[in-house]
Amino acid sequence: TGSLTVVGTGIQLVGQLTLAAQAHIVQADKLLFAVADPVTAKWLRSLNPTAEAIPYNTDRTRRKETYREMVDRILSEVRQGLNVCAVFYGHPGVFADPAHGAIRQAHQEGFRAQMLPGISAEDCLFADIGLDPGVNGCQSFEATDFLIRRRKFDRTSALILWQIATIGNLGFYQEGGHIHGLTVLAEVLQTHYSPEWQAIVYEAAVYYPVCEPVIQRVPLSKLPEAKVTPVSTLYVPPFGPAPLDREMMARLGLGARG
Ligand code: SAH
Repeated sequence: TGSLTVVGTGIQLVGQLTLAAQAHIVQADKLLFAVADPVTAKWLRSLNPTAEAIPYNTDRTRRKETYREMVDRILSEVRQGLNVCAVFYGHPGVFADPAHGAIRQAHQEGFRAQMLPGISAEDCLFADIGLDPGVNGCQSFEATDFLIRRRKFDRTSALILWQIATIGNLGFYQEGGHIHGLTVLAEVLQTHYSPEWQAIVYEAAVYYPVCEPVIQRVPLSKLPEAKVTPVSTLYVPPFGPAPLDREMMARLGLGARG
């Protein structure tokens, strides 16, 4: 009977793979990967000669269809009775529909399936920017979802927006195609913060030690002019301290010393 293990490579090449993920990669009967860069692909092949890229058809105008094809591709190997390991970049369960989809489908068909956590772009951001999500809390949204659902958020808490290069785009990234979406996002954010409020367009280093993370500080009013790539993430720092609820503090026995 087949099984499925979904693992992540981390963001930075080679060094962010967990030992557990590596063990599954090496031992799998069939290794499938959905990582775009050729260096990672080559490295995965050296760890397991059965390694094969999951076809990722970017001609499709809709991501959803491509994702369904990826799930089918993964399941086709599991159905053959193989112990399959599927590799995604970053944390395999963070902004990766096909990874969750494959696990669900495998369970539905009665196979053993599990996901192992990995290091996500957000984990790198915490380290590189010096943000502790425990201090003011931290909200994380996909940028298009944030806009079209008018997600309620707290501006005194950290805000992280993912996929800012494909706002309003149901297909795939196109060079220069991100300006309109970014303009709309900047406009909405300025109504909650201020035009001068400094945000950070962040890119974790992918290769180490060859390159450094990119930390671009930009006032919200200038956001549309920032250099944004498909791997950029936006961080908006907390806007002032949140007010304290004195009644609640008293109830919890806090603040007696005021
Ligand atoms: N599974 C990945 C996320 C894939 S979705 C993870 O665990 O991080 C793609 C989005 O992730 C990008 O639009 C961007 O918001 C973020 N991302 C991916 N690579 C990144 C990098 N090197 N630096 C900053 N953000 C990154």
